[in-house]
Amino acid sequence: MARYCGAVCRLCRREGEKLFLKGERCYTSKCAVERREGAGPGMHGRIRQSYSDYKVRLREKQKTKRIFGLLEKKFKRYYLEASSKKGVTGSQILLHLERRLDNVVYRLGFGASRSLSRQLVTHRHVLVNGKRVSVPSYEVAANDVVEVCEKMKKNQGIVAAMESASARLVPDWLMLEKTEARGTVKALPTREQMIQGVNEQLIVELYSK
Ligand code: SF4
Repeated sequence: MARYCGAVCRLCRREGEKLFLKGERCYTSKCAVERREGAGPGMHGRIRQSYSDYKVRLREKQKTKRIFGLLEKKFKRYYLEASSKKGVTGSQILLHLERRLDNVVYRLGFGASRSLSRQLVTHRHVLVNGKRVSVPSYEVAANDVVEVCEKMKKNQGIVAAMESASARLVPDWLMLEKTEARGTVKALPTREQMIQGVNEQLIVELYSK
């Protein structure tokens, strides 16, 4: 299971916007994007860059990939699966991303960031319908119940994450029972309920060339 191990704030600075990859810190003045006023990483970060059509599409894909903590191979596989299905390809890609177990754990507030949520899953602290699932890419379905295992429900990190996540709204397609550290997938999300600020059409255009 490959993953990016470099500096995460660098990724936000590369995209020129906050991708909220570090949990609590992202909401403070310590955020690198705010401190460096949107300058890119590296010694040429402040040089203004020109944007071709290709580059705009590439950056949108990279941004989305980075928000969900994926590498190219997995992300492209979502595109290939989405393009072979009925429906709007862009929305299908986002549906795959939103249904990932690490994303659902993050959305429910059990982890302060997607990477910490992924860690909760890989460390076998998350149950789906009463069974331990340790695969972050596991895709939830309607009526699935996702919860933190009994032993970890009082864990300070999880309790603190849930407290700080109160400011982040739980999306309508999930129902959170905070005291039980448990959530239910009410239904699969519509496009309006999925991540905002991502132009999925640009991603489709990039891959379909
Ligand atoms: Fe991105 Fe968060 Fe780092 Fe800010 S603090 S640059 S939002 S990861």
